[in-house]
Amino acid sequence: MDARSLNRESALSSYWLVGVDIGGTTVSTVLLDEGLRAHGELTVPTDLSNPDATMWCVAAAIEQTVALGDASRRLAAIGLGIPGQQDYEHGIVRIAVNLHWYDYPLIPRLTERFGVPCAFENDVRAAALGVYRFDNPNDDQNIAYVSIGTGLAVGVILDGKLVRGRHGLAGEFGHMIVDPNGPLCNCGTRGCLETLVSATAVVRRAKEAIAQGAGGALAAVDAITARAVYDAAAAGDALAQRIVDDVGVELARALRSVVLAYDVDGVVLGGGVTRAGERYLRPIVAEWLRQQESSALARAVLRPEILRIADPTRNLGAWGAAALAADLMNRHPQTS
Ligand SMILES: [Zn+2]
Repeated sequence: MDARSLNRESALSSYWLVGVDIGGTTVSTVLLDEGLRAHGELTVPTDLSNPDATMWCVAAAIEQTVALGDASRRLAAIGLGIPGQQDYEHGIVRIAVNLHWYDYPLIPRLTERFGVPCAFENDVRAAALGVYRFDNPNDDQNIAYVSIGTGLAVGVILDGKLVRGRHGLAGEFGHMIVDPNGPLCNCGTRGCLETLVSATAVVRRAKEAIAQGAGGALAAVDAITARAVYDAAAAGDALAQRIVDDVGVELARALRSVVLAYDVDGVVLGGGVTRAGERYLRPIVAEWLRQQESSALARAVLRPEILRIADPTRNLGAWGAAALAADLMNRHPQTS
């Protein structure tokens, strides 16, 4: 093999992949090499001043991420997770409300800018892929990743493949109607699951109870967060405990539907509020065990051991996006 082919050989076998998790507040990235080893991470504020500014902010974050690695490798592919609906065929973000992107040609713009293949996925599905590839100790092939934050959505992996559905809406459990007389949801319907159990809902439940005269530790908190409610419950506050228990029961019922819909090996919960860890899982497991007392079906399918919290030390959205980039390299091997 002459020197030129040797160089070409090493350029093809070692390269950088960048995974990007685009959120309404921050853009987070990870730099992986061809062996999917991490070489750096970055988080920058999202520039929302206009749709192009947001794209340039993402492009700048990608450049800075590549600069974290040494010059022996070159950028080969980019993967992105986006909170919205995509047209995968044309690389267009159809609707990403929080980013103000409507019919925005993100993939063509980034491909033109970087000259490498780019792929995107809905952010929750990208995180589900991150769990499947990088936070999967039992090598489960069927996983439901439940993202709980301002809303709630489920990213589903079946037989090792992401499930998108016809319109990319598969797994939108947050908009399942649970209580037709419940709070009004952003989608315009009353009582969607996410109005009852999201991190936002936990805060709303606490504020409503306090407005109705409930006392306790939370009444003295200036800006109530979901985390503060879980902390107060752990410290023995009765109101906080009631909210945590009520949310746990609702979530346990919803996760029962997820398990019955997809028959998964694992249900993995992620999002800031789940960092309460065992304290977050306990009321859910308690409700599953209660259901088991009277139901053989519940005993067969609602096994607490399939339930766990996603690895909080890794940005699984960015890692999953990097996995999309890796898949691009495997799908289009540069053999010439
Ligand atoms: Zn809704």
